[in-house]
Amino acid sequence: MIPEDHPRYASLVAREKIADAVKSGIVVIEGASAHGRGEAFDYLLGERTTKSAACAERTAAAFLIRAARPVISVNGNTAALAAGEIGALARASGALVEVNLFHRTEKRMQAITRHLEAHGVVVLQGAAERLLPLAHDRALCLREGIYAADVVLVPLEDGDRCSALVSMGKTVVTIDLNPLSRTARAATVTVVDELTRALPVITRSCEELGADEAAQLVRRHDNARLLAEAVAAMQETLTHAVD
Ligand code: ATP
Repeated sequence: MIPEDHPRYASLVAREKIADAVKSGIVVIEGASAHGRGEAFDYLLGERTTKSAACAERTAAAFLIRAARPVISVNGNTAALAAGEIGALARASGALVEVNLFHRTEKRMQAITRHLEAHGVVVLQGAAERLLPLAHDRALCLREGIYAADVVLVPLEDGDRCSALVSMGKTVVTIDLNPLSRTARAATVTVVDELTRALPVITRSCEELGADEAAQLVRRHDNARLLAEAVAAMQETLTHAVD
């Protein structure tokens, strides 16, 4: 039992969720390592949603609600940390939810689907086909899901798949604490914030945004600026650390 007044409570709860998910087969051990990389960048960010990240979250919502066929791609870490939040965002944005894994086995696909469904998420299912321009099983996705999507939200993605989706002409929204990752650099909209902080803000924005403001956010969007602001926020933390 983690004491609620522990100064690192949220971080310890997230670690426990990842550890439990490794035991239940939802997260592979490599996913635990990816989580640790995220934690390090969150430390640099001051474990808060910066003003720039809040703007990215509103922009992400604008792209999602303006999409004709939005899809949320869910991997093991995302399911383990934020199954309920994914369900809420899917309902608010009208997006479909597809499970898409780097380390793909039928057993994991089933475990993640069951876990999401237990949290009220409607999961798109069907026969996956090799439709993405990637080698091996990483090319697999659903024809009526990610393949047909115009806007794809891919939290905690790896760079190759993000680039593959962009090369197919899709708008890619990602949530990634590392502003230097290939994913962060390749995506259309990069939310540099922790997944469980970012998702509720995006959901609330989907509910609040009017058509004019959403159109304006999309028109004015500048991902290079968002990334530069995220790096600047981290630099500021480091500068103050040695003051
Ligand atoms: P890339 O291939 O894009 O260069 P990578 O090799 O780091 O990046 P992965 O190993 O798949 O890609 O890691 C996923 C990314 O998710 C990492 O950049 C990590 O910082 C980020 N991340 C991990 N946990 C979280 C979280 N809870 N919230 C937001 N981002 C996270």
